[in-house]
Amino acid sequence: MNFKDYVRVIPDFPQPGIRFKDITTLLKDGPAYRAAIDEIRKLVAHHQIDLIAGPEARGFVIGAPLAYALGVGFVPIRKSGKLPGETIEADYALEYGKDKLSMHKDAIAPGQKVLIADDLLATGGTIQTSINLVRQLGGDVIGAAFLIELSYLQGRDKLDGLDVVSLIQY
Ligand code: IMP
Repeated sequence: MNFKDYVRVIPDFPQPGIRFKDITTLLKDGPAYRAAIDEIRKLVAHHQIDLIAGPEARGFVIGAPLAYALGVGFVPIRKSGKLPGETIEADYALEYGKDKLSMHKDAIAPGQKVLIADDLLATGGTIQTSINLVRQLGGDVIGAAFLIELSYLQGRDKLDGLDVVSLIQY
């Protein structure tokens, strides 16, 4: 299956000059969505994984079904102020913007092996912040998995030493 055919590229969203990769066209196709998750599962199946952590909101759409397919738990990484329990927070800069991410303090037990999942790797800022949060909680980040990687932004260079996998590259 050529997964790229299912991604729609929208010019000048959310800002002029950005060519936004819209995955909703892939997600609404049942066989394509299932096959994409299954392919990502195969790319990470050789790892021992205890938990998947995914940043909101599209990280949930990839991370939660991946966790289900692997039979492991899922923990959400959310924007500040959304999680009801005690949290830790970290600042992050986006390809287009700035925000804070948070996790529940008890989301991860020290030493648990965590794979981070998101829809798209751009500059790597979101994933770097996610990694920092997981590490603050004592988690052992073993890698990161993406549906899409914007290779020309070289985000993976910021994720030194981790296994970074992606299904579609631009
Ligand atoms: P990064 O932090 O620069 O790597 O940006 C990645 C984050 O921004 C991910 O959480 C994506 O959901 C979002 N993002 C950036 N560019 C795009 C895009 O073209 N399509 C969809 N999401 C994007």
